[in-house]
Amino acid sequence: NGFAALGLAPELLAAVADLGFTQPTPVQQQAIGLAMAQEATAGSTAFNDLMVSSQTGSGKTAAFLLPVLNTLIAQKAAEAEAEQQARADAIARGEDATKRPRRNPLSPRHFKAATPGALVLCPTRELAQQVAHDAIDLVKHCRGLRIANVVGGMPYQMQIARLQNADLVVATPGRLLDLQRSMQIKLDKVQFLVVDEADRMLDLGFADDLAEVHQLTANRHQTMMFSATLAPRIQQLATRVMRQPQRLQI
Ligand code: AMP
Repeated sequence: NGFAALGLAPELLAAVADLGFTQPTPVQQQAIGLAMAQEATAGSTAFNDLMVSSQTGSGKTAAFLLPVLNTLIAQKAAEAEAEQQARADAIARGEDATKRPRRNPLSPRHFKAATPGALVLCPTRELAQQVAHDAIDLVKHCRGLRIANVVGGMPYQMQIARLQNADLVVATPGRLLDLQRSMQIKLDKVQFLVVDEADRMLDLGFADDLAEVHQLTANRHQTMMFSATLAPRIQQLATRVMRQPQRLQI
């Protein structure tokens, strides 16, 4: 399987095989490697920002989902290990570590804002739902990695219940900012921001919303922008939300 050489976690390779993908498409082949490469700057490392022009049907969705999910999986594993260690330490101290607080996500008493590590922005509800579906397919072998969809026209309560523990959120910008303003979601833990179909985002008047979301996310996050064209207005948006991005034209 041609995906194995890309350095992806076994859980993701299994999902890709289940989907019947045997070889990465050109955009996957190039974007996945670039997205997972760390750039050393000023004493610390960060992932490269990425500006990709490619058409729908090129396999671009998996090209941005796979590298993001790959890092989330590694982080989850490290967290789980730390938790297990903490529990072992508690037991060693003679504490009862089996007790876990029960939480009802819809009870105001237990409410906490969602703090996803990754965010994918799509111009339309239909596209956001498609991307969320693809993400769910790709995490089917990953334990404890949660995907949530935030789009207009769906009951708030349902989305909020799923949202609370989400690791990756796929959203349209308007509804996302609604939830941010009502403090259902906080974006300061977002390490990966993907802007899908940036040209349609601009057509639909989302430029300022995108800039606002970008401002709200973690200081040193990775932004990946995908667009069918690289018109000057896309370049302009790119300079607002990215730092010296790597460019790919497929
Ligand atoms: P996208 O450009 O992301 O909308 O993907 C277009 C279609 O190609 C989707 O139906 C994907 O399931 C499919 N696809 C994506 N990557 C691959 C691959 N490596 N091999 C075969 N099909 C793929």
